[in-house]
Amino acid sequence: MTFTVGVIGAGQLARMMIPAAVNLDIDLRVFGTGPGESAALAQTATGDWTDLEAVRAFAADVDVLTFEHEHVPQQVLRALEDDGVAVRPGSGALLYAQDKLQMRTRMAQLGLPNPEWAAVQTADEVSSFLASHGGTAIAKQPTGGYDGHGVRRITSADEVSDWLTPELLGAHDGALLLEELVPFTRELSQLVARRPSGDLAAWPLTETIQSAGVCSEAIAPAPGADAAVLAEAARIASTIASELDVVGVLAVELFETADGRLLVNELAMRPHNSGHWTIDGSVTGQFEQHLRAVLDLPLGSTELCDSCAVMVNVLGGPETPEARAEAEAEVLRADPAARLHWYGKGYRPHRKVGHINAFGTDVQAVLARARRDADLMHRDSTSPDSEVK
Ligand code: ADP
Repeated sequence: MTFTVGVIGAGQLARMMIPAAVNLDIDLRVFGTGPGESAALAQTATGDWTDLEAVRAFAADVDVLTFEHEHVPQQVLRALEDDGVAVRPGSGALLYAQDKLQMRTRMAQLGLPNPEWAAVQTADEVSSFLASHGGTAIAKQPTGGYDGHGVRRITSADEVSDWLTPELLGAHDGALLLEELVPFTRELSQLVARRPSGDLAAWPLTETIQSAGVCSEAIAPAPGADAAVLAEAARIASTIASELDVVGVLAVELFETADGRLLVNELAMRPHNSGHWTIDGSVTGQFEQHLRAVLDLPLGSTELCDSCAVMVNVLGGPETPEARAEAEAEVLRADPAARLHWYGKGYRPHRKVGHINAFGTDVQAVLARARRDADLMHRDSTSPDSEVK
């Protein structure tokens, strides 16, 4: 029995669904924006994902429509649902991955741990939030942000004056999100997958390391996390998945504080950078699990294949195809056990062009190996354009 899954978006996340689809005999069809994208191999349509008629035509003959990003507008999602398309995750869940103000409000309603936050509309409101939070805050555009874009660390209202215009506020629920500057000791990610029937599977808690606002390394299980932290992360993610009726993979990005608290940072309802290690390090990888979940098939085991698994992204890398090929060959030579995942993308400074997975028994040794491999690919260590840090 072959199911057809349509994926909106043709970047690396859609690309990495392809091997999983092949293995499960799923007919995967990708809706991209043009030629040359990462998932071109499975691309069957191109267009604008905000264009209802284009997405409607693509969705007409798929069993399930899913996503590699959260940018399809609510009105398009709802119209498809009215047409009877199986949109997974559905519009009601995706809203909370699209809009950080809605997400903060919903987390508060569910009694889940948020940083202190406020929805603000004026420079005076920004100033008073700053005054009551030690003079520094994190300002976020509620919608459309990614990889640190749309996020700023601020110490004065002037630094967001360009975001407090009627046009920009109008595009974002009429308000800007301010959060306390969380004094986190590290960032974590709890990944779970949920079927429409409610079955849920969680992977081990993952530590993530960002480079200039971009997730660039992941380590699982999160080193040193005690039983209470593991249980709390699992409780938060499973509550969110169930209460928001999420279908597919859910990544809950978390801050851990020095006193052992976990705070929700943001949600992603699709395979996530922090879960790339699962492709090789877990019995069931996140891309396969996402396809199983959206098709309401039984979920796979989320056990680790070894004591620990790590992922190191290659950001930037060699500028020319020749230099890239040489560097790739060097990694193959240096580390026969490395698992390489290239995204089929051309060079741009700090662009995610691939990642390296490694697993083993000693986390420090495994991490050192994966970092060395990524360094052989000349990864960038600084970002020219991120707004955070
Ligand atoms: P994006 O949508 O771009 O992923 P995030 O909301 O995850 O944006 O923020 C990007 C990064 O900024 C986070 O990974 C974290 O390092 C930092 N950050 C975000 N919110 C806060 C906060 N309230 N306090 C401290 N750092 C934050």
